[in-house]
Amino acid sequence: MPEATTVVNKKYYQPFIQAGVACVFSSRHLENMSLFYGDTKNSLDNRNNFLRGLGIDYRHLVCARQVHGSRIKYVKEEDLGRGSLASADSIPDSDAFITDKKNLPLAIFTADCLSVFLYDPKVKAIGLIHAGWRSTKDAITEKTIQAMRKTFGTHPQDLYAGFGPSIRSCCYEVGSEFSNLFTHGLIRRENSYYLDLTGINREQLLNSGVKDEFIFDPGICTSCRNEDFFSFRNEGASCGRIMSVAILS
Ligand SMILES: [Zn+2]
Repeated sequence: MPEATTVVNKKYYQPFIQAGVACVFSSRHLENMSLFYGDTKNSLDNRNNFLRGLGIDYRHLVCARQVHGSRIKYVKEEDLGRGSLASADSIPDSDAFITDKKNLPLAIFTADCLSVFLYDPKVKAIGLIHAGWRSTKDAITEKTIQAMRKTFGTHPQDLYAGFGPSIRSCCYEVGSEFSNLFTHGLIRRENSYYLDLTGINREQLLNSGVKDEFIFDPGICTSCRNEDFFSFRNEGASCGRIMSVAILS
C-alpha cells in the first residue's frame, strides 16, 4: 500500500485504530476496486493487494449494489463474502451497512461520493455509509445512526465518525435546481452553486448527537487530488472506484 494512504489513515483515524477497528480507504495507485464500474478485470487482484497487508481476506468482503438510496443493511455472519468475488451475489440495493459482528469487512466503493465510517466503542458496533448527494438528501447518515440506536442501543454521543475522500465544496459545482433540494450546504460563488457534501453530513452527525470532537475528517478532495483518487466529475462514469473498508475485530 502506498505510504501516503497508510499515513492518512493512521493520522486521521487514530481513535478507531486504537480501538482495534480497521477503517481504511484505497487510493487510485492501487487501481480500480469495483466489480461494477471501470476496468474490472484486475479488481480482485487490486483488492487483494490492498487488503492483505492489513490482515483482511478480500474474499470475506461484504459489498452491496449501491443505488444512491437510503436502505441500510444489518450485516450478519451469513453475509460474509457477499459481492467479494462476483457482483451478482452482492447485497441488493443498499447504501449503508451496520454490524456488531466481528471479522466482517464492510466495503463501500466511491469516486467523488463520500464514505462515512461510524464506530460505537461502547456496544462495539460499526457502520459504513455511501453518501452521494441523493443519499445525503435522504438523510442517510441520520438514518444509519437511528438504525444503530434501534439495533444496538447506540448512544450517538459515544460514536466516532470518520469521512473518506470525496469531492468537496471547492470543486463540486451543481445546478441552480439544487437550491430547491438543499436548504443548507450550498455555497454560492459568483454565479455558481457548490455543494458541501461533507458539511451536510457533518450536520447530520451533529444533529444526531455525535460530538464535534469525535468527527474525523482527512479533508481530501478527490477532484483537487485527482492524481491520487478517482473522480467521477473529472473522468466520467467509466472511471474506477476506490474502496473504503471498516471491520470490527
Ligand atoms: Zn477540490
